[in-house]
Amino acid sequence: MQQPSSSLYTLEPIGIIHSCYREKFGIPRQPGLATAATACIELLPPFNRPEAVQGLEGFSHLWLQFIFHQTLAEGWRPTIRPPRLGGETRVGVFASRSTHRPNGLGLSVVRLKGIDTQNGKVILELEGSDLLNGTPIVDIKPYLPWADAVAEAECGFAPEPPQIREVRFTPEATLDCEAYEKLTGRPLATLVTQVLSQDPRPAYLQRRPGRNHGIQLWDQNIRWQANDDHFLVTAIESVEL
Ligand code: SAM
Repeated sequence: MQQPSSSLYTLEPIGIIHSCYREKFGIPRQPGLATAATACIELLPPFNRPEAVQGLEGFSHLWLQFIFHQTLAEGWRPTIRPPRLGGETRVGVFASRSTHRPNGLGLSVVRLKGIDTQNGKVILELEGSDLLNGTPIVDIKPYLPWADAVAEAECGFAPEPPQIREVRFTPEATLDCEAYEKLTGRPLATLVTQVLSQDPRPAYLQRRPGRNHGIQLWDQNIRWQANDDHFLVTAIESVEL
């Protein structure tokens, strides 16, 4: 078998994500679980050429390959403890979608809402991404359901989407959401509900109900309380940027 000439390869970001997720905590564990999540990819020079996305407008979904840039420096681990196994059972990194993997590469399918090639920029508008703001994108490909979706696939220890938790808002938090939505047009209440209903807490915190938490979405800090049978959103506060 012919060997590659070098065992090292270099990846160059072709774009960067601008996303509603400003911190890792709270981002759903897979794409498509919070459809109110907005993001866009801005292609970077020399890849920001309109012809590089010519024909892509006909596809509803994209594969994104990206760098887990915020955990890259922590390196990889041969085994990890997936939250859905209660954070105690170990599985191999290659049996997981963990961020701590050799090469730190992520893979997500997202909905393509539109493409803007005006003002010298190339912007892809996305829905339902699970990527942190500032994530470097290394490749984009159209999603082909006839080739990429496997109806009879078996899913090991992750046979179903995560369980959904009930999310409630205090009257004050409801009013704050409404005011923010009116001002910005962003669907904050829907996004908060979708994000919290996935139970973003790591497994060790899931065993300790009654605690207060905070999650940043766009420029808002969402304060919430984890109760036994529901999560209560108690306050929505602007974040000083
Ligand atoms: N869908 C991708 C995959 O399978 O490769 C990502 C799955 S990974 C379990 C999802 C988590 O990655 C999110 O909950 C978020 O905390 C984390 N994440 C997203 N963007 C990241 C980034 N740029 N750096 C580090 N972690 C990131």
